[in-house]
Amino acid sequence: KHVVIGGGTGFIGTQIVNLLSHKGISYTCISRMPGPNRISWHDLECYGLPENTTAVINVAGQNILDPKQRWSEGFKQNVINSRVETTKSLAKAIIYTKADAFVTISGVSYYKPNDKEYTEESKCEKYDFLSKLCHEWEAAAQLPKDSNIRQTTIRSGVVLGKTGGMIKQIYLPFFFGLGGPIANGNQYMPWIHISDLVNLFLFSIENKTVHGILNGVAPQIITNKEFTKAFASVMQRPAFIPVPRIFLNSIFNKERVKIMLEGQKVIPKRVKELGFQYQYVDINCACAEVIGKNKL
Ligand code: NDP
Repeated sequence: KHVVIGGGTGFIGTQIVNLLSHKGISYTCISRMPGPNRISWHDLECYGLPENTTAVINVAGQNILDPKQRWSEGFKQNVINSRVETTKSLAKAIIYTKADAFVTISGVSYYKPNDKEYTEESKCEKYDFLSKLCHEWEAAAQLPKDSNIRQTTIRSGVVLGKTGGMIKQIYLPFFFGLGGPIANGNQYMPWIHISDLVNLFLFSIENKTVHGILNGVAPQIITNKEFTKAFASVMQRPAFIPVPRIFLNSIFNKERVKIMLEGQKVIPKRVKELGFQYQYVDINCACAEVIGKNKL
């Protein structure tokens, strides 16, 4: 087996690589920076995928949570291209290989935030920048109808892990006791522990019955307020002071603020039906692992 991972150097990609190495599966990452076991996107365009490729994953994408980035039109275009164009390049290249699985990431922003419960079967129209992005990202992963390659899209919730994503951003404020719910904290926060997400990628590669959309979220539905309570509790810090909406609106672009103020109620119906076993089904256990306290 040989797996190619677009974005294999990032927070999620590195954990996928670690799991593959642990299982003795060889891999190649696609990155903008040279390094061992890496090819560039340009190499992919020119020479295609390595001949021995058996599965392809794409988790590349310009970081949308980076607080240093201003959401200019140029940045937004970068956000789109780094996901849609990389996915398109891989979809184009995979058909010339003997690979049997193509697994790409998308986001729960595909679903419109309201009180509705969304399963993988729910259809949503595009309604804002991020949902439009998810639609284009998922369309880019589609393979020709006559292809025998299983194509899976994992619509991921907020990924909880020590080394990146949201936790990396909020760790210090919470550490100094400055953490708190965002606005009233009643917005849903679809979440998944990094180990479960990475296992879901491997499950999708290895399990011949998996294809189509999977909601990459834990089965437990929580709100931002509940997450804040769980995280502050394992950090042993107070987190009572809410981050006011007006403060967020004054420093961040409206699309970025929406990510923080809105959330969807997402159910991993197909993931459960397919028999995937989660390691973290409870937010307290997930937070405890993330900050290194193995409370079970
Ligand atoms: P990281 O920022 O840690 O990693 C992103 C990866 O994408 C890096 O490996 C980087 O590779 C590559 N990348 C960054 N910018 C570009 C670009 N302009 N062109 C091509 N490649 C680029 O992100 P995560 O691992 O957290 O997330 C990976 C993907 O998963 C993203 O698309 C993200 O939207 C999606 N996702 C993440 C969630 C989360 O909570 N973390 C939730 C839902 C979806 P290099 O620098 O080596 O080229």
